[in-house]
Amino acid sequence: MKIHEYQAKELLAAEGAAIPRGVVANAVAQAQRAFDDFGGKPVVLKAQVHAGGRGKGHFKDSGKTFGGVKYVTTREDVGTVAEVMFNYPLVTKQTGDQGQRVSKVLVQVAADIEREIYLGMVLDRTLGVPVMMACAEGGVEIEEVAARAPEKILKAAVEPSAGLQPFQSRRLAYELGFKGGQVPAAEKIMHALSKVFLGKDCSLAEVNPLVVTPGGEVLALDAKMNFDDNALFRHPDVRAMRDEAEEDPGELRAARANLNFIRLSGNIGCLVNGAGLAMSTMDIIKYHGGEPANFLDVGGGVTAEGAIEAFRIILQDAKVKSILVNIFGGIAKCDLIAEALVKAGREVGFKVPVVVRLEGTNVDKAREILASVRGELPMIQTAANLTEAAQKAVAAVR
Ligand code: ADP
Ligand code: MG
Repeated sequence: MKIHEYQAKELLAAEGAAIPRGVVANAVAQAQRAFDDFGGKPVVLKAQVHAGGRGKGHFKDSGKTFGGVKYVTTREDVGTVAEVMFNYPLVTKQTGDQGQRVSKVLVQVAADIEREIYLGMVLDRTLGVPVMMACAEGGVEIEEVAARAPEKILKAAVEPSAGLQPFQSRRLAYELGFKGGQVPAAEKIMHALSKVFLGKDCSLAEVNPLVVTPGGEVLALDAKMNFDDNALFRHPDVRAMRDEAEEDPGELRAARANLNFIRLSGNIGCLVNGAGLAMSTMDIIKYHGGEPANFLDVGGGVTAEGAIEAFRIILQDAKVKSILVNIFGGIAKCDLIAEALVKAGREVGFKVPVVVRLEGTNVDKAREILASVRGELPMIQTAANLTEAAQKAVAAVR
């Protein structure tokens, strides 16, 4: 689960991090009132969407060139910019072409910036512990630095039971070139980030940029956090920050039906039992020149209801031009799956070819069931093995 910048900053501030003053506005007039309340000083209007890269984005069809982060100095400009932000979808590298609607705008007092630094924390799967990463070249494109000059990214491995140690934050602060009073100020933000990451079960937590002002102040200017969904049960405060408007409707619906579903950009829908089999199904589709439209693991104990809901979710996507059903019958027997398929075909109505590969327990019975509905459900095609299934699914979209 992801949260908005303003929410991530609240979590950091609660652990002692310094953040710029700001107010969340739900409407244009409220944004202008915030500007007045800050004494008419320059502010930055920041569209609150979960996607990153807002600063370099644009508002679709607005005719304006600014992105989701805009510096403004007058009450009138606050009005015109906020008007655009609330009324046009924001397109960034991470939103897709359709963009994302904005319902909240953070009005933040503009900071004078001398330096922008990157600070982040992720799980290092090789070391098996979280690592804090820092880079003197902060700002908008840390991925670019990671590709071009990975040695510029400083790292400190954090023992989860002990947390970030003072010697580690001190070393990072000196390596980043902080001087005098900036050192403890920067360390304070590092410790806040580490406490939130470990305490709230984050999978990623970033402050990008962390800035130094000409006056020597050190502030967390932007923050981004992702949380481990499997640990949300123990963080009701984080769960309360969920913004379903930011989430894929298909993914939300699948989560409610206990299906593991992730939307992808291709046009071949996949319905598979087991995450490993789902991964290899996507691989074989790509191997034969196709592009999967989704990852979908219906789970080991799939029911007819689960399978029907899965078909509905896949078919809601207009991009889907064929579906590959790949089931290894074990706990869920093949005949049960075949019956569910027939039921789904009758209820949902297959408008695109559905290529079925079944193997495992009761496969013969399943083949009989599918053969018996050949006239009634002509969109169902069977395949003798996975290669043939993938070839048929790919051929169907050509
Ligand atoms: P994103 O990462 O989504 O593009 P950021 O919040 O990081 O959004 O903003 C992008 C850039 O805009 C920052 O790197 C910084 O240069 C500038 N910026 C953001 N907030 C402020 C602020 N309060 N004052 C001055 N500049 C800001
Ligand atoms: Mg940023």
